[in-house]
Amino acid sequence: MTGNIFLTGFSGSGKTTVGRDVARTLGWRYVDTDDEIVKEAGKPIEAIFMDGGETTFRRLERDSLSSVCKDTEQVVSTGGGIVVDEKNRDLMERSGVVVHLDARPHTLHKRLTKQRNDTPGLVRPMLDAPDPLKRITTLKADRQASYALAHWTVHTDSMTPAEVASEVVRGWRTVAKSSEEIDSAHEADLAGTVRTATGDYPVWVGWGILPDIGERVKALMSPGAAYVVTDQGAQRHGRRVQVAMEGAGIPSHLFILPSGEQHKTLETATHLYDWLAQQRAERGHMIVAVGGGVVGDIAGFVAATFLRGIAVAHVPTTLLAMMDASIGGKTGVDLSAGKNLVGAFHQPAFVLSDVETLTTLPSRALTSGWAEGIKHGLILDEDLLRSFEERKDAVVSLDPELATDIVRRSVAVKADVVSKDEKETLGLRVLLNYGHTIGHALEAATGYDTLMHGEAVSIGMMGAAEIARALGTMSDADIERQRAVLEAYGLPVKHRTDRFDTVREAMGVDKKTSGGSIRWVLVDGIGRAVTRNDVPPNVVDDALRAVLS
Ligand code: NAD
Repeated sequence: MTGNIFLTGFSGSGKTTVGRDVARTLGWRYVDTDDEIVKEAGKPIEAIFMDGGETTFRRLERDSLSSVCKDTEQVVSTGGGIVVDEKNRDLMERSGVVVHLDARPHTLHKRLTKQRNDTPGLVRPMLDAPDPLKRITTLKADRQASYALAHWTVHTDSMTPAEVASEVVRGWRTVAKSSEEIDSAHEADLAGTVRTATGDYPVWVGWGILPDIGERVKALMSPGAAYVVTDQGAQRHGRRVQVAMEGAGIPSHLFILPSGEQHKTLETATHLYDWLAQQRAERGHMIVAVGGGVVGDIAGFVAATFLRGIAVAHVPTTLLAMMDASIGGKTGVDLSAGKNLVGAFHQPAFVLSDVETLTTLPSRALTSGWAEGIKHGLILDEDLLRSFEERKDAVVSLDPELATDIVRRSVAVKADVVSKDEKETLGLRVLLNYGHTIGHALEAATGYDTLMHGEAVSIGMMGAAEIARALGTMSDADIERQRAVLEAYGLPVKHRTDRFDTVREAMGVDKKTSGGSIRWVLVDGIGRAVTRNDVPPNVVDDALRAVLS
């Protein structure tokens, strides 16, 4: 992304300190319009005012802004009154993103007084009045309507300069990468744009697109360095990502985690923190997670917490991670008390899924992954389910065109749901848990090493279908259709176990319980889902018996 960032705001709002920090983070030039005016006029601002009055100063200010706007990749700190002139606002808007640093008059007064006390001789005209606070309050109120026209405003009162700088960068990214820009970049591979409170990001799904990751990173952001985190099983892809990033001129470092859920721990996160600190990772750098859901969860968690948050991009290389784990910003690690008990929401800068990477995945993991896509069809998209049914052979043999298309469409369902219900508050995202109540319980009861996640979800979906049959939301024909498609992809629809009570017990403590009763996700006609928390225990038991024979 090019262009400039213009910082506007009243004297004392922190434009200089924050501007320098943002410029350092992005590797851009820092410019102060007042300094440019002084250079041009060959005398200090006070002398310009004294000799030619405010009119001369404003003319010089406009000239200096015009010449600054001819260049790009600059963080420009502007004079407090620059925004009042409409032509100045127009100039800034056309050559970059305008970020207003706001603060209350009391805060400004306190900061200006401290600056003058700390630096004897410093000129702060705002304080040269019988009642400086009143003067600040009045003048700020006069200009507020113009300040408010900025693209992005940061309320700085209770923030440190570093926090403000990070908000400026976030604002700039969000505004500069408007949805249209994101949508048009690499449009053919775009499965969807996830829209969240913290910004929008593209989710690309293509065949053989991994080598152009560096170029895509550069189109979206300008990281000073990248830290590629992968694991032993996915490391060949991690190394290719590192090479591609280096090829695009982004210094990149590689960290290989041991594979397996047992390493998704705080201890592993600590190793990563230490490594990042050793590498002198900074807030303007980024983490790229290359691997399955384990790598994505842990690298995402570290990105959410290291330096209070740095950018992360996901390059999922398992089907489960492509369809599910990489989209939506959920990150976390396991504790001995349970899975994913510590975590954070941290949305990525983008997700890039190269379906070709699935060709190195063991076949059972591939099979297990299809469960999530089929689930998306069952709950929200009957057309997608039909494609799964009709194209089975091409899909399971990873036909480049057809498999990519079906992954892209499955991913689009998740991207859309996350956009509409980022933090699971509207009851939409919860629909993605179809099959997970029984599935998670089954995984927990069988010790996580008997069934793969998708296999457990497949059995869980059949259990939920039995409940739906009892409640009348699914017909016998729909249930048969669900069973047939799962079996066609080699997924189990039953599990033989003597741990019926353990599964039942595990379901009782499942996180998806609400007010003591389980919130079931049920298919209500293929392509539609509902939640129900009025399912009688005997119906649940019958459904469990049907799938755990
Ligand atoms: P995984 O990450 O453990 O990967 C499975 C194995 O495949 C690993 O050994 C890995 O090294 C290997 N591997 C990865 N890519 C490969 C490739 N292309 N070729 C060969 N081997 C490869 O398991 P997973 O199923 O991808 O993810 C499971 C994890 O995802 C769980 O920890 C689960 O909690 C998490 N998850 C997170 C979310 C979320 O929203 N954050 C959603 C679902 C699941």
